[in-house]
This record gives sequence, C-alpha cells and structure tokens, in this order.
Amino acid sequence: MPKDFLKDVADTYDVIVIGSGLAGMTSANILGRAGHRVLLLEQHYKLGGLATWFLRPGGHVFDISLHGFPHGMIKSCRRYWNRDIADRIVQLKNIRFDNPQFSLTTTFNREDFTRLLTTRFGIEHQTVVDFFDTARGMNFYDDQTTTTKQLFDRFFPGRSDVVRLLMEPITYANGSTLEDPAITYGIVFSNFMSKGVFIYEGGTDDLVGRMKKELIKNGVDIAINCGVDRVVVDGGRVTGVEVNGRRIGCRAVVSNANLKTTVLKMVGEDHLDPQFVQDARDVRLNNSSTQVYMALKEGETIDESSGDLFFTSTAEEFRTDLLLSRDITSRTFSFYYPKTRPQKEKKRFAVVSSTNANWSDWANLDEAEYEASKKDLVETTIDALDRYLPGIREKIDHAEAATPRTFQHYTRHETGASFGTKFEGLGVSRALPQQVRGMFHAGSVGIIMSGWLGAINYGVIVSNEVDQLLVQPSPATV
Ligand SMILES: Cc1cc2nc3c(=O)[nH]c(=O)nc-3n(C[C@H](O)[C@H](O)[C@H](O)COP(=O)(O)OP(=O)(O)OC[C@H]3O[C@@H](n4cnc5c(N)ncnc54)[C@H](O)[C@@H]3O)c2cc1C
Repeated sequence: MPKDFLKDVADTYDVIVIGSGLAGMTSANILGRAGHRVLLLEQHYKLGGLATWFLRPGGHVFDISLHGFPHGMIKSCRRYWNRDIADRIVQLKNIRFDNPQFSLTTTFNREDFTRLLTTRFGIEHQTVVDFFDTARGMNFYDDQTTTTKQLFDRFFPGRSDVVRLLMEPITYANGSTLEDPAITYGIVFSNFMSKGVFIYEGGTDDLVGRMKKELIKNGVDIAINCGVDRVVVDGGRVTGVEVNGRRIGCRAVVSNANLKTTVLKMVGEDHLDPQFVQDARDVRLNNSSTQVYMALKEGETIDESSGDLFFTSTAEEFRTDLLLSRDITSRTFSFYYPKTRPQKEKKRFAVVSSTNANWSDWANLDEAEYEASKKDLVETTIDALDRYLPGIREKIDHAEAATPRTFQHYTRHETGASFGTKFEGLGVSRALPQQVRGMFHAGSVGIIMSGWLGAINYGVIVSNEVDQLLVQPSPATV
C-alpha cells in the first residue's frame, strides 16, 4: 500500500497553504501563531521550495539559492519567525566583480558604491547622491512607465560601465532587465544598498529545519508529498482543496505555487471573470537559471580572499540577451567556506556558479543532447573558475549541473522560473481574492516580491489579509 501522507490531517482547517516556499511557510507561520487552524501542503518531500539544498557523498552540502539577500531579512525573520533565526544572519563583506570593463571588490553598500562611483568611475558626487535618493524614494505607487534603462540614461548617459556595476548584480538577484519598470530596480537595489549583502550562517538546511520547528510549535499541520490538484470553489468562495484523492475543507487558501498555475489550473477559468483570465494569461514568467555545483576534496581549501560572491563576465558590455544566452558569458560564483556551516564537523569548501537562463534553450533537448549540454556546462564552468583559481579542477571532488528543467521539476514553476513573474504578475496576484472569496496567492511575483526577502515579506502581507477574512464571521453563519 502506498504511504498515506495525509493520514494525520484533519477534514477541515481555517486555512490551507499550498506550497512551502518562503512565502508559503511565512504565511502559515503567522496564521498559525495567530491561532488559526492551518494546514501546509507541499508536493515535494522537503520544505523550502527554491530555498533548498542537497547532499552528496563525501559530506558535501550544496545550497541552491543562498547567495545573498538584503539586511531587511533580519527584521523580517525576527518579527515573523524568531530571534534564533534572525541572529544567524551575517554580512558577506567581500563582493567582487571582474569583466572587460572593470575589476573591483566592494562591500556593496551605499557608502562604498558612492566611493567607487566618484573616485573610480569619475561621476560627480551630487549625481551619485541624487541617483541613490531617487532609487530609494521609489515605491509601488510611483509612475510605472519609466524603465530602468531610462533611469540610468537620466543619471549616467553613455556610461555602460556604470550601468553594468549598478545593474548586473540586480539582474542576477531578481531577473529584472533594463526594459522592466524602474521601480523593480529601485526598490531592490536600495534594499541591498542600505547595508550590503547578507547570508544565513548555518546553511539552508539549518534555516528550513528551524522554520519547520517553529511552524510545528505554532500548531501548523504539515504534509509533504502532497501536491494539490485543485482548489474547490463553490458559490464564488473557496471551500477546500483536492489533494492525493482527498478533499479537505477550509475557509481560505493561500497558494504559494506559481501564479499562473494557481489561477488558470488550480482555481480554473470557470470561476473567474474573462478579463481576469486574460490578464493572468498575459502575465510573463521571469527567466530561469542554470547552476553548477562544485565541491572540493577533503583537505583541499580555497583562500577566503577569493571572495564571497563574485560576478564575472566575459561580455564586452552588459546586455540582457547575453546574460540569458546558453552561450554563457556571465557567471556568478558563490563561495562556501566552512564558516557557512560552522556547526558541521566536516570542514568542506564548495563553489556554486549561477547564470540566468532561458527555458526555451533547454526545454526541447532530447535526453542525449540534454546530458551532453549539462556536461558541457559543468566543464566550461570549471574552466572559467580555473582562470581565477588555477588548479581548482584537480581539487574538485564532485561537480554537477542544474538547468531550467531541474527547477521546473522540483518546484513545478512553469518554465522553471527562478524569480516568479514579470511586474504585471503582482496586480493579478493581488486581485485574486476579489475574484474568489478566500483565495489568495503569496509567492514570487512582479520582481519586487521575489527573492528570499521579497517572498517572506509578501507572505506577511497576504497572511494579514487572510487573518482579516478569517476573523469575520463566515458567510454561512451570518
Ligand atoms: C538559482 C537560484 C538562485 C537564487 N538566488 C537567490 C539569492 O541569492 N537570494 C535571494 O534572495 N533569492 C534567490 N533566489 C530566488 C528565491 O530563491 C526565490 O525567489 C524564493 O525562494 C521563492 O519563494 P516562494 O515563496 O515564491 O516559493 P518557491 O520557493 O517558488 O516555492 C513554491 C513551493 O510550492 C510548491 N508547490 C508548487 N505547486 C504545488 C502544488 N500543486 N501543491 C503543493 N505544493 C506545490 C513547490 O514545490 C515549492 O515548494 C534564487 C533562485 C534560484 C532559482
């Protein structure tokens, strides 16, 4: 008999959260803490969504998306998770760039960027001040027609080197491009510039383990290997979900699954206005990624002066199409020293190389082509790393690659989207509860609400709305 992963699950809940990405888990935690009866359903066998890790023989642990997030994570984790988690967030101080236009090291905050822009790039101090103030002043209610390119043209006309310094890391962090609304850049860039780049000390496995403990403490029921097929809607409101052949009742659903899947497949067009359906169809998914995971043999080391996060590119200029191309020119290396997991007895060094990628470049390869392409990705990446760390190839114990297909497989994100949807997804996500009472979406959308901090903060916003709904008497009892 197959194992029944819903064995201990009740027949009804106040709220069911579909998906245990950071937004889903945060919503579940806040709602559980507020005293609501919460069920968290995850289709994978692990919690965390894209905030995940995997193990390989030899004591190797690889993190998928633990490369860096803004300082705001400390406050969000302290308020909505616990101090234990917040206190493990530490700064990455050694951020490096190397490309045909410049090579430099920075702490990646406003003070250091001001220094670099004025002394190294020769920009007027007042222009830098005005640029930072403009970016920091941007918010969701601003004009959304100005693009990031227009913003840069206003402050740094003709300076492709400056644009590269300012844009390349943000494109890497949230998939935004020069053609996206400038607010998607301004908000995320300013978040990083406030204090620099931070990381969770202990590794993603430690973080998700602590989050799970907190969820259980707050009374949240958790079921893994439980992929929700459908949200049940009756009379314009949510009444439950269908999962593993069972129907579980609830007054509200928070879906952390991909926005388009949530709206068009799990809820379904029949329950939605035609215009809303069209808006959801028109939402563009964000790009995907490739990664190469490399672990060093026991006893082999990398000097910490190699940096924490290293943005490299061989392209002459910053261009979105080059950044996404399968003919890779840009690689961001994350270095994991034993200090990343101080609790581990086995002191291991690892490097993860990440590159933004197009789903279409990988989707239709047959198995032989796919395997060959992955092998090529691994080999060319080791060659690229070897240019900075001569002899690294001989020190590597294990290397493997992930592609857009890998991300799609593990998270069910359509087209393996790493950062949810483009900007227009935010409006559709926000409008869902007006279409179906009790139906909410929380997860990477609109560029702004993606990344670890964006996802957690979106989970907070949505959980407050769910809480408001749940404290009202249910329509049946009015
Ligand atoms: C390669 C890569 C590197 C990244 N690096 C960084 C970084 O350095 N810093 C940063 O801040 N962000 C980074 N990100 C982005 C960040 O990881 C994500 O934006 C964030 O983790 C997304 O959280 P989420 O809440 O939107 O949900 P996701 O993580 O997308 O999780 C959604 C969850 O829903 C589950 N699910 C889907 N369908 C169903 C269903 N039908 N039933 C049940 N469960 C379902 C999935 O299995 C998954 O667990 C990176 C992403 C990638 C891919």
